[in-house]
Amino acid sequence: MCELSKLEILEWLREKRPSRLQMLYEQADSVRKRHVGDAVHLRGLIEISSYCRRQCMYCGLRQGNRNLPRYRMATSEIHACAREAEKLGYGTVVMQAGEDDCLTAERIAEIVRWIKCETALAVTLSLGERSADELRLWRAAGADRYLLRFETSDKTLFRLIHPHRFSSGPDRMKLLRQIKSFAYEAGGGVMVGIPGQSFESLAEDVLAFHALDLDMIGIGPYIAHSATPLGSGSLRPAIDPSEQVPSSEEMVYKMIALTRIACSTANIPSTTALATINRANGRKRGLSVGANVVMPNLTPVKYRSLYQIYPDKACIEESASDCNQCLREQIHSLGRFPGRGPGGRGARQNQNEAPEREMLNVPSQFVQLQV
Ligand code: SAM
Ligand code: SF4
Repeated sequence: MCELSKLEILEWLREKRPSRLQMLYEQADSVRKRHVGDAVHLRGLIEISSYCRRQCMYCGLRQGNRNLPRYRMATSEIHACAREAEKLGYGTVVMQAGEDDCLTAERIAEIVRWIKCETALAVTLSLGERSADELRLWRAAGADRYLLRFETSDKTLFRLIHPHRFSSGPDRMKLLRQIKSFAYEAGGGVMVGIPGQSFESLAEDVLAFHALDLDMIGIGPYIAHSATPLGSGSLRPAIDPSEQVPSSEEMVYKMIALTRIACSTANIPSTTALATINRANGRKRGLSVGANVVMPNLTPVKYRSLYQIYPDKACIEESASDCNQCLREQIHSLGRFPGRGPGGRGARQNQNEAPEREMLNVPSQFVQLQV
């Protein structure tokens, strides 16, 4: 059973008093410390292609954005990024892309086999809605994890902002269950503040994370991109303004904290989108309210600005080693440490931490949540 009821989640999502929110954040941080420890796992992100056949109404990579020059990384470039990940001490590489027809099942399988054979890295794939045969092949090739955010649990809103290629497109929640059944670690997640997204549906999102028993949960702010129907305002989902979730930093922190309490052992990243809306402190604050993962960018700098999901993305000019250094400094400044090894769900036991000692560090004034 979920630690939080829908009513409690809803009340927290609407809460505005800083002192009450501080209680929520402290409890989430304490749950994080007890269940996944102080390690912050570094997942090296490789944005392998910006081609996409989809028309998601929010995303700058949508096929209809004709003004964006597209790229697809060569296999040798992806290999070089994986080598760099090992050199920088990361335990995982995440290969992410639009739904690119040229990233064939066999090509991806070969890249996964190469990484698993040549390095000790865990491999996460985030390549959109792919068929059961493709997912099985990649799992057999050695892929460890698959990320597919369901974006919102509001089915009507999802259908509106996510046109299917076929008359009856796949259901992302169903796909996530399938991904789990193939023994991947499964990652889902949502954007916060999508036009048309209600507080009620956001509360349902937290319950859905719990019900799906997700291993990884990515939560970031929705950021308007003017080259998309949602961002330009040409698509305006109808909603009572008092029900509309703001795409604010605070709302993202609330969601990370509630998700940590509801899904205590999941890996939760402090996302690049959060760093984009608060460059100075977004990542650190995310880590302070429940997150335990960051995703330093390994994509060659010449491609970074072209993977333009939303405008003014953080970390598009820094080299891989700059990103690595900056994130490590942020982690240490919080009194935490970079995780070692692949950092799968429940990796706390592998971190050589001393759980007994750590338990003593839980503040004695541990507050029981009351809403
Ligand atoms: N194509 C794959 C997919 O859709 O799962 C992976 C790449 S897609 C760019 C990765 C994530 O970017 C999406 O799941 C979505 O949550 C996020 N994203 C897309 N457009 C966004 C926007 N305007 N603001 C914030 N996040 C966005
Ligand atoms: Fe393509 Fe993913 Fe963007 Fe949708 S969210 S347009 S599938 S890259």
